[in-house]
Amino acid sequence: ISTFIVLLSVVLVFSTSLFLASRAIKPIKTSWEKQMAFIADASHELRTPLAVVNSNLEIVMENENETIESQMKWLNNIQSELERMKKLVDDLLFLARADAEDEMPKEYFDLSSLVHKIFDEFTPLCQKKDIEFLLDTKDNIIFYGNEFRIKQLITILLDNAIKYTGEEGKVELKLESHTSTVQLSVSDTGEGIPKEHIDKIFDRFYRVDKSRSRNHGGAGLGLAIAKCIVNEHKGNINVSSVVSEGTKFTVSLPYKAPQN
Ligand code: ADP
Repeated sequence: ISTFIVLLSVVLVFSTSLFLASRAIKPIKTSWEKQMAFIADASHELRTPLAVVNSNLEIVMENENETIESQMKWLNNIQSELERMKKLVDDLLFLARADAEDEMPKEYFDLSSLVHKIFDEFTPLCQKKDIEFLLDTKDNIIFYGNEFRIKQLITILLDNAIKYTGEEGKVELKLESHTSTVQLSVSDTGEGIPKEHIDKIFDRFYRVDKSRSRNHGGAGLGLAIAKCIVNEHKGNINVSSVVSEGTKFTVSLPYKAPQN
């Protein structure tokens, strides 16, 4: 009987440790799988522009007796694909740093002025697309954060709003301040996002319509980056959208007025 009890205890201890080990390994396995998927997606996104550069370069090299002027079409294609790749590599580096939990340096800056500046920068693009562009902001909001990244966040949201809104649509950038939060919102009257995609649009490389987004030039990293920036400022980002009516992204960030 005592041998049986010893044996039973050994089996029990062994199976419990096996169970605990598999539970401990699960998050590591999930994180590893996520990393592998990220690398696969990144490689795929980099391969596409590389293939375009390669094929255009081949044409240029085949026409070795042609003038540079006559080859401009192919050279322009190469240039725009290289720009796309540069943006992609910058975005990937940003996400890698965010994963490594590199803290963003922060200081007080005038958020109202920044919003005005961004509004001025986007006005010509909206005029070109015949989009009505509106700004609603309070002045003198001094915010503690990383100015460069907050600019990147607003730029991503505006870029998308303009990208997914057709001619004669409307885009609005709004900045409000409350006692302990500032609220930034970007709304548009564009194509909207179908309900079943809403939960996934902040995932890396996620695009609602892959073929269309590629024509627009996006790799599906913009909103993932936007979310990282919001998290780094301890805020939150929400989206509400109705197909064919429009989309509104709202960012809430904790706010503490500077003490003089
Ligand atoms: P992308 O580079 O493709 O724009 P994002 O991460 O910025 O990538 O956005 C992910 C997806 O969310 C987009 O492919 C698009 O389908 C959808 N999306 C984002 N913003 C809007 C918007 N304002 N209106 C409609 N769809 C949007």
